[in-house]
Amino acid sequence: MNSALTAYITLICTSGVFNVYLCFRVFARRRRYTGVATYFVLYTIVITIYCFTAAFGLMATNLEEIKFWTIMQYTAMPLSSPLGLLFTMRYLGMKMKRKTWIFLLIIPVISLFMVATNDLHHLHYRVFEIDPSLGAPFIHIEIGPWYIIHGVFTFTCMFIAFLLVIYRWKETTKKYRPQLLALLIGQLVPMLTAFLYLIGTTPPGVDPVPMVLWITSILYLWSISSSSLLALTPIAKNTIFNSINDGVMVLDESFRLIEFNHAAKLLFPGLKSSLYGMKAKEVWLALTEEPLPAALETAHYTGEVELDEQTNRVYQIRTASLQAELNSKREGLLWIFTDVTEVKKLQVQLEHQAYYDELTQVLNRRAFFERSEQEYRKAKELGSAYTVIIMDVDYFKRVNDTYGHYVGDQLLKHVAQFYQKRLQDMLFARYAGEEFVLGLKGMTAGEGEALAEGLRQAISREPLATNEAVISITLSSGVAEAKYEAGETLQDLLNRADKALYEAKQNGRNRVNVYETV
Ligand code: GH3
Ligand code: MG
Ligand code: MG
Repeated sequence: MNSALTAYITLICTSGVFNVYLCFRVFARRRRYTGVATYFVLYTIVITIYCFTAAFGLMATNLEEIKFWTIMQYTAMPLSSPLGLLFTMRYLGMKMKRKTWIFLLIIPVISLFMVATNDLHHLHYRVFEIDPSLGAPFIHIEIGPWYIIHGVFTFTCMFIAFLLVIYRWKETTKKYRPQLLALLIGQLVPMLTAFLYLIGTTPPGVDPVPMVLWITSILYLWSISSSSLLALTPIAKNTIFNSINDGVMVLDESFRLIEFNHAAKLLFPGLKSSLYGMKAKEVWLALTEEPLPAALETAHYTGEVELDEQTNRVYQIRTASLQAELNSKREGLLWIFTDVTEVKKLQVQLEHQAYYDELTQVLNRRAFFERSEQEYRKAKELGSAYTVIIMDVDYFKRVNDTYGHYVGDQLLKHVAQFYQKRLQDMLFARYAGEEFVLGLKGMTAGEGEALAEGLRQAISREPLATNEAVISITLSSGVAEAKYEAGETLQDLLNRADKALYEAKQNGRNRVNVYETV
């Protein structure tokens, strides 16, 4: 064996050994790595097979052996560049369709078939013979049409992977640059070698690519251990920008549209890249058919807007200043749109729950106290009349006992809703179990009594009809008017109304009683 051949085999085996090591190392620690590790392991397996079969090929002594090892080499070598591309795509967070996968793997399979059956058609190698001047294992080949397809495909895969990394270079933070550099050089080394081989500038009779793959392996090893290749993968900032749920539009320092993200496009279907460079005012007019609110031209504004009238979705708009460079005086502007519809709904729902009685859907005790405190204080200041009425359903316990709680509930709802309709603008609330309360600003005790009397009579004519029975309803009421004596509180007033109510009950129920000051 001549010394050049020994050197070739040594180099190729070095590449193979490095790849075996890489493969085992990554496989053993795969749980620590991201999903790209799987692709990387597959890639190193394929490269390992490629290297060792190439090495065995160089140890062959006759054409049959060389052909056998060439076929073995083709079980892996054509897969290396598409797998390298798949790995790069995954590494850069690009989505892959099934079709891409299948397409990338189909050509290597055909190449293997072509090489295995080459003697029958000579489509891959037109000539494949032992190099007449160098002898075995060096070969003289003349390429056939499929070799060109295979070569172009291999080269294209490597080139695309290389371009993808370059394309992402600017968008990636500095931390990830060493990783990208390793990937770039890792792709460039075999690509350049393959190119030199194709134009015939490498030693004749041997494929030089496996001889340089150890350089790629060392780069990957260095990157895995020093810059967390496989453990941390960069995500392009553009991907982040487009993954944000908030719609974002970017205006430059002269308020012209220069960017928008995917969410903004969903929000404004009319938003197109053809609007880039258009003044903010015109953009807003084109999208909403309304003039641009002045506030949106200022930084640090927060407001709400209902953008989509059909879906009634409510958006919060925030503006933020955009400084392209630190300490730069030229400022652009960000418009950030956040969908707050659900938050708004929840807010309304919570407010409702806080102030309305769940069963009867009239105001609850808390709401009554909050509002009547205000009204009472105001009336006291103005010296105008203020009266409260407490109404209590007579013998309500009997309804529960006779017909059950469900019917009792129906009766409460019936009373509450019947009164609510009549007392639309008045402060009417459920006070406790079967008690209701009214806060009447500007009304005297006499007026309150008349109102309570009217209500008493009205409900007695509106019995509750259930499947079982028609249940007649009567109420007793206590009325009390504010005296504004020193230290009098709303609670004192309510206590007096309660006392009057107690008397109404004592006197036989179904009546109105006014608290008399003695
Ligand atoms: P009176 O004429 O003296 O007012 O007699 P009453 O039976 O109406 O009064 P009492 O205070 O003895 O009973 C009130 C009942 O109301 C007792 C309680 O179980 C019932 N109750 C309170 N809240 C509810 C409710 O939300 N639903 C139902 N079904 N019953 C309730
Ligand atoms: Mg009661
Ligand atoms: Mg009662």
